[in-house]
Amino acid sequence: MNTLITTLKSLCGDANVLTHDDPGVDLSAWEQDWRKRVKGRALAVVRPGSTSEVAAVVKACAACGTAIVPQGGNTGLVVGGVPDDTGTQVVLSMTRMNAVRAIDPANLTITVEAGCVLQNLQAAADNAGFLFPLSLGAEGSCTIGGNLGTNAGGTQVVRYGNTRELCLGLEVVNAQGEVWNGLTGLRKDNTGYDLRNLMIGSEGTLGIITAATMKLYPQPAAQLTAWAAVPSMEAAVQLLGLAHQALGPGLTGFEVMGQFALSLVDKHYPQLRVPLFKETPWCVLLENSDSENEAHARAQFETLLETALEQGCVSDAVVAENLSQAHGLWHIRESITMAQAEEGLNIKHDISIPVSRIPAFVAETDALLAREIPGVRMVDFGHLGDGNLHYNVQAPEGADGQAFLRDWEERVNTLVFDQVMRHHGSISAEHGVGELKVDKLPLYKDPTALAMMRAVKQALDPQNLLNPGRVLG
Ligand SMILES: Cc1cc2nc3c(=O)[nH]c(=O)nc-3n(C[C@H](O)[C@H](O)[C@H](O)COP(=O)(O)OP(=O)(O)OC[C@H]3O[C@@H](n4cnc5c(N)ncnc54)[C@H](O)[C@@H]3O)c2cc1C
Repeated sequence: MNTLITTLKSLCGDANVLTHDDPGVDLSAWEQDWRKRVKGRALAVVRPGSTSEVAAVVKACAACGTAIVPQGGNTGLVVGGVPDDTGTQVVLSMTRMNAVRAIDPANLTITVEAGCVLQNLQAAADNAGFLFPLSLGAEGSCTIGGNLGTNAGGTQVVRYGNTRELCLGLEVVNAQGEVWNGLTGLRKDNTGYDLRNLMIGSEGTLGIITAATMKLYPQPAAQLTAWAAVPSMEAAVQLLGLAHQALGPGLTGFEVMGQFALSLVDKHYPQLRVPLFKETPWCVLLENSDSENEAHARAQFETLLETALEQGCVSDAVVAENLSQAHGLWHIRESITMAQAEEGLNIKHDISIPVSRIPAFVAETDALLAREIPGVRMVDFGHLGDGNLHYNVQAPEGADGQAFLRDWEERVNTLVFDQVMRHHGSISAEHGVGELKVDKLPLYKDPTALAMMRAVKQALDPQNLLNPGRVLG
């Protein structure tokens, strides 16, 4: 047997080191990305149970020059957490490290291990009487380590920020297998370079996050959800402005959904009963989290929607009567990703643009695409509150999805990303770079920034052992 495998088994226990040579073991769950775009082959999948085990595994791999691919829930959308196809990389699966280490109610913090599933972290906060606001469609499977690795966004960014804004401290194993204990829980610490923020969003290329101290918030006294039909993207942006004014910090969600995206939910999940979408090009989902009470929240919503109807930026609206109706509306929004997967392959873009420029971006880019590919269908939806669109391009009705991707992906990406640059946006808003956008970064990222990123990588991981080929290529 490979001596590294023997060492890893002695460090983590035989049952926690899986290889293709083990009878009856199927590694595909760790080797295949969520979107099924890439299937790699791992030398081994290692599942450490503690920070000291992670450190020992990294040291053992570094000693023989073996690359490590950190993995959490493997729900990432840019092929960042699966091994390449050489059969030489170790997948470091963090899911056994899932404990809640501490809750500090006075400091409003929770400290958890990196493999803690986001939903379990939310539940732990809830049980302690607090809110942990990070929320996304994959929350039942993704881990906080993966959320930090990708600086995940989700549906509450308009109020609480990305995962970065929710994190106060990290514990990290570096590329040399040393442990940095940065679990301070401090809101102020100006003692030099911000290593925490360097690690967040580095997609496993600079260090392995083993634990994190995250912020907690008071639970809102009431949470209301509304669904509004809007006549145009300009109207959606106008509504966002009104909602900021009327709700202030109570505005915790503002999602936009295009008619075709909603028609896919209606087609594939008719039981979800999508409201108001048939007669309008766009719908908006708004959430109001109120610190007073439900009556106050409802009154605020009613005033907002009346003003919006008067100003013509809303043509119709419904406010959920209770929590179950609110969950139903959110479920529709969160089902778009699955509904488009049911419909077939499409060319996905996770982009951000200053909110003020989104209407012009959508109008121009839709027109450019329709001219190039007659009949093309746009699955547009996203977190309009923070300027993030999932601007996905679906083949014309009846076309072969595979052939569409082969013939059009490069051309469509160039067209969309050039437009993103014209409107001062980013080609990756919240999903990261992974392997999928590695060739695009040199084209669309400031060259000085890219050179500084390379210098950081070289300094922290000179052997290029942590997730090689991702982010920087
Ligand atoms: C249905 C669905 C909806 C989604 N919605 C959203 C959304 O709204 N917003 C959003 O931002 N994303 C969304 N995503 C993408 C995905 O869920 C996030 O990127 C999530 O943060 C990934 O977490 P994970 O644990 O699955 O990480 P993985 O997929 O396992 O890994 C992601 C990256 O992080 C690295 N990594 C993982 N764990 C660690 C660690 N402990 N230390 C260092 N690096 C690590 C990996 O190497 C990889 O580069 C969605 C995905 C799905 C499938």
